[in-house]
Amino acid sequence: MKLSQTPITTHSYNGVSFHLKRDDLLHPHFSGNKARKLMRLLELEDASITHLIGYGSAQANSLLSLAALAEMKGWQLEFYVDHIPHWLKENPIGNYRQALALGAKVIPVSDVTDEDLHPEAYIKAYRLSDNCLFVPEGGRSTIAEAGIALLAKEVLVWKTTEQVNNLVVALPSGTGTTALFLHKHLKQHGIEVVTCACVGGTEYLISQFEELGEQCFPTILEMDYKHHFGKLYRADFEVWNALKESTGVEFDLLYDPLMWHCLSRWLPKNEDKSLLYIHQGGLIGNESMLPRYQRKFGA
Ligand SMILES: *Cc1c(COP(=O)(O)O)cnc(C)c1O
Repeated sequence: MKLSQTPITTHSYNGVSFHLKRDDLLHPHFSGNKARKLMRLLELEDASITHLIGYGSAQANSLLSLAALAEMKGWQLEFYVDHIPHWLKENPIGNYRQALALGAKVIPVSDVTDEDLHPEAYIKAYRLSDNCLFVPEGGRSTIAEAGIALLAKEVLVWKTTEQVNNLVVALPSGTGTTALFLHKHLKQHGIEVVTCACVGGTEYLISQFEELGEQCFPTILEMDYKHHFGKLYRADFEVWNALKESTGVEFDLLYDPLMWHCLSRWLPKNEDKSLLYIHQGGLIGNESMLPRYQRKFGA
């Protein structure tokens, strides 16, 4: 089971050469940046823990990685959601389906209380006990730092071995946890980290950085339109297809297209830089995103 030391491959897209850190190859279920963020919990030896507690969307990439972690550790995952869409419940697909197969319990809050509570509030009121280990949504937590520091180290060793100059590392952000801790561990080596806000815009991303207790942030690239998380954009589907065509690699459909839109503007102004893109996994999530795109825009 490979949980670190993923390969770095070289590709070309739109006439620009770039390197790709293949964290999509970490592990089929415990994959991408969620695996990096949860790595410290995998190493945790604490016999008193019986339950792993999380929350988020019933289709989240983090649901699957938490399910895989719980399965490997012999814990029961309870993953609280606001609701499970009817169509998903009828025809489980993607992260939801695989998480159930790994033994996860995906629980709508309305099934367990009559109070009108957000999943996080429910957990804080009723599900924090000594035998329960709680992970905030998307792994937005300082527990993520150790695993991402290891990723930074792998990047640094590669840079030194391959003698790469003017290295810039790019990756899209949700909670921003991965980009923030990568920046924290790479900046002293003169490596810039660039990211973009896929959820809630730049100001929201900065507030998420601040909540993790840091003061120095990665560079945030922006487009001049508002991009809504989970919404289907023709331009995103085009970029995703073009990337697959040029590189032979499947990227994630939720986060990666926006980063590549931002990079297509950034690259012409930074021709002296060497780009390393971090592939953060999420391919099982594509199982449910791709049919939505195909229904909307055709194959
Ligand atoms: C979760 C996820 C992200 C966002 O990671 P953060 O650390 O929350 O910024 C980006 N890409 C993929 C594929 C993800 O699954």
